[in-house]
Amino acid sequence: MTIRDKILVVEDEKTISGLIKAILTANGYDVIQASTGSEAFSMISSHCPDLVVLDLGLPDMDGMDIISTVRSWTSMPIIVVSARSYERDKVQALDKGADDYVTKPFSPAELLARVRVALRHTRSGPGSGAIANTGKFTAGDLTIDYDKHQVLIAGENCRLTQNEYKIVALLGKCAGKVLTYDFIMKELWGPQSKGNNQILRVNMANIRRKIEKNPAEPQYIFTEVGVGYRMIEGD
Ligand code: CA
Repeated sequence: MTIRDKILVVEDEKTISGLIKAILTANGYDVIQASTGSEAFSMISSHCPDLVVLDLGLPDMDGMDIISTVRSWTSMPIIVVSARSYERDKVQALDKGADDYVTKPFSPAELLARVRVALRHTRSGPGSGAIANTGKFTAGDLTIDYDKHQVLIAGENCRLTQNEYKIVALLGKCAGKVLTYDFIMKELWGPQSKGNNQILRVNMANIRRKIEKNPAEPQYIFTEVGVGYRMIEGD
């Protein structure tokens, strides 16, 4: 590793903060810590971290406000650490500009995967998950051929409809990252589509019938309950 990525961990619970720091430093990241929102702001200004891991429940300020403020300054990736029961928080955090979230309690592997994906997406170009509309995405037997507008499983064309292809193509471009229902709807069908997820659910059911061995236990596109969908990381 040439340049080490610097990660700011914003968390008021010392044990959790220490655990996150241990996981990240063991994997080659430099870690700095803040336990309040105001400390976080000053550390962001003085240390310019490459990524922020953010707990939403801080003593001095609402994590949502931190996301909005940081977003108004910079596009540095923010990964939210949240409690399992608050799906609304996850959606709000992602819609405010957080890149991803991990749910407490989380495994080291899960946290590291989110960090890797978020850092990679910032490097692949301006805007979250922006990559070229050409080339191929592969994960196991799944291939998305962006030139031919086809999705293949083990080389076999899955014959997706136009809408089904668009959904899979978008998830593939942001592979490893959760996309909220609203985000997907707006990206694919414009701002008016907000609030009507039914079309998305119907399409996803059809996609799964075509690409998954067992649609009830998907191995490529995962449902983040109450939040959205996530494509598995590519090979
Ligand atoms: Ca907390």
